[in-house]
This record gives sequence, C-alpha cells and structure tokens, in this order.
Amino acid sequence: MTSSRCVFCQRSEPEVQMTDEDVISKWFDKALTPEILGPGRSAKRTYINKFDGSTRNKRWPSPQKLSVVKIKAVCQACNNGWMSRLDARAKSILSPAISGRGITIDPEQQIALATWITMKSMVLESGPAWGVEAVPSFSIVDREVLMSQLAPPARTQARIAAIQTEGYPVRLYHRTYVRGGPKSAPQSDELAICVTMTVGCLVVQTFVDPQEINGGLLRGPVAARNYIQIFPPVRESISWPPAVALTDESIEEFANPLGV
Ligand SMILES: [Zn+2]
Repeated sequence: MTSSRCVFCQRSEPEVQMTDEDVISKWFDKALTPEILGPGRSAKRTYINKFDGSTRNKRWPSPQKLSVVKIKAVCQACNNGWMSRLDARAKSILSPAISGRGITIDPEQQIALATWITMKSMVLESGPAWGVEAVPSFSIVDREVLMSQLAPPARTQARIAAIQTEGYPVRLYHRTYVRGGPKSAPQSDELAICVTMTVGCLVVQTFVDPQEINGGLLRGPVAARNYIQIFPPVRESISWPPAVALTDESIEEFANPLGV
C-alpha cells in the first residue's frame, strides 16, 4: 500500500505534498561511481515475504544508477527538512567507510546513524513489495518519536559491519519475522523487522521486535569480531571496521539474525 498520508508527521494531501523517498540514498551514486565499480557489477534487493515465507530478489546492473528504490510514503516537508538533514549527517559520517577507509564514531554519531537506518527501515516497510500489502511493524508512535526526538524507538537495535564483496556494491535485505511462522494476514504486533543495507564496504543493520518475538532483541555481545553495536549506543567512540569482514556468503546469515 502506498500511503497517502506521511508515515512520520501523519499529514496528508492537500495539506502537504507527498513525495518519493529514496530508500537507497542518492549520495550512494556519488560515492560509488562507475569508475570505481567497473563493469559487470550489480545491485540487489531481497524481500522475505511475511505472508508466505517466500524470498524475492531483484537485481539491477551497475554502474547504472544504484538509487532506484523509491517509496511514496513521506511528505515534502519531512523529506526536504529533517530527513534530508539526517541523510546529510549520515553521509558525512559514513562516506569514507563506503570506500573502505576506517572511521571513528562517537556516541552522538552512533545515535544519528541508528536513527538514519531506522528511518530508512520505516519508509521501506511502508511501501509495497512486489504486490504484497505492507503491514508495518513500527507503530505511529514509534515514527513520531523518531521524527521528534531524532532517536530510534527504545526497542530498536542497530549494528554496523564491513563486507568484502565480489559483485554487489549495494544490497538491501528486508526481512520480516512473524510470530509462530508465516501466515496469510499477520497483525502489526505479530511482526519483527530486520533491514540490512550494504553500500560499498559498509554494512548497516536495524532490528526491531515490538512484541519480543523469539525472546526479544538480537542476542549477542555489544561487539563481536564481525560487527559493532551502535544502538543502544555503547557510550564510547568505536572504530570501524570490525576485526573480521563479512563475505558474500556470511552476509546472508548476518541479514537473518533470528535464523529462521
Ligand atoms: Zn511529513
């Protein structure tokens, strides 16, 4: 369902103008140019269908445009205002990491990055995915909290990782978990969502489980050899990349943290 109401401020036309939001930010195209990518590279989007458990993939060739996933779910005021500022903040922090240069992320930046990837997840789950109607796992209150406080909802967890890839400069995994397994018409409170985005060498992931399906948040330490938690923030500056990079194989496992 493409919303006629902004998923953040809840206003609708004619009070506001609805616009397309680039789930894959336009600045990725500037960070990963055709000269860097070379021929024969592809971008990939994976959607795990919450209704029947099936997987759908879409690939598109690079070095044509990477930022092709657009969803009409937000108003112009939000898109050109706080969302644009948050996107610029993420760009300033993350740009070196996309091409593999190490970065240091302080606690305030950890919150900004977690807010940014959670914002993307909220937009992504508001749009249609190959004809399947969206059932959002984030509530209206969650989205209002994110917009007004520029922080993810308290139950959100975000991670950052690195990847050595052989062919996909951009990947987007949108995985929904349903309590009790796939079913035909799940309710919002039966869902958990994990969105994983890779761009160049960088991997960002957000996970939210409103009703603590499968025991709640992701298990695991704040930092492991192949990822670092950024939300809840770890109260000190962290260095990226982690000791071990993900690969084209291990990213599949990382993007499915509940393993079902
Ligand atoms: Zn709005």
